[in-house]
Amino acid sequence: MIWEWQRVLIGRALMTSPELLILDEPVSPLDVSVQAQILNLLERLRNRYGLSMLFISHDLSVVKNVCDRVAVMYMGKFCEIAPSERLYRSPAHPYTRALLSAIPKLNPCSGHSSQKGFILEEIVSSFPLESGCRFRDRCPNGADLCQKKEPEMTEIIKGHWAACHFLTIDEQE
Ligand code: SF4
Repeated sequence: MIWEWQRVLIGRALMTSPELLILDEPVSPLDVSVQAQILNLLERLRNRYGLSMLFISHDLSVVKNVCDRVAVMYMGKFCEIAPSERLYRSPAHPYTRALLSAIPKLNPCSGHSSQKGFILEEIVSSFPLESGCRFRDRCPNGADLCQKKEPEMTEIIKGHWAACHFLTIDEQE
């Protein structure tokens, strides 16, 4: 039923011959097999019509498979932007690392999934913060500077940007 509903919405959107499709959590309420059907449909539409797509999602494993380029937001502001393959392999911002470490990984031997790294907790900070980095109350690397000054976006290598006073690159396996 939901699959039909999604298909009708996408079909209607295409009737206006758009150049850009904005998809806000298009597969999050769906089970995995229906997700795969929707994502295959979007891929076919992208190739057929040469569409650009802005794909908004909290599901990082889906984002990895769909997007060429990923922008991570924290409390309404971009904290890291990079080509997808680069961001998942070498995240630079502590928030991106926390998100990636929270993706369950399937153990091929046991068949069970597992997570590593610290689990993200509820955001309890008041918003907006008066000064400093928005992630400072939850950041494992925070320092005095982070309380006082908001970090600006810095280009680490061509096409890979992050906003942190203490940028390091984390090469994932
Ligand atoms: S600027 Fe400071 S608090 Fe913000 S992400 Fe970087 S290290 Fe953490």
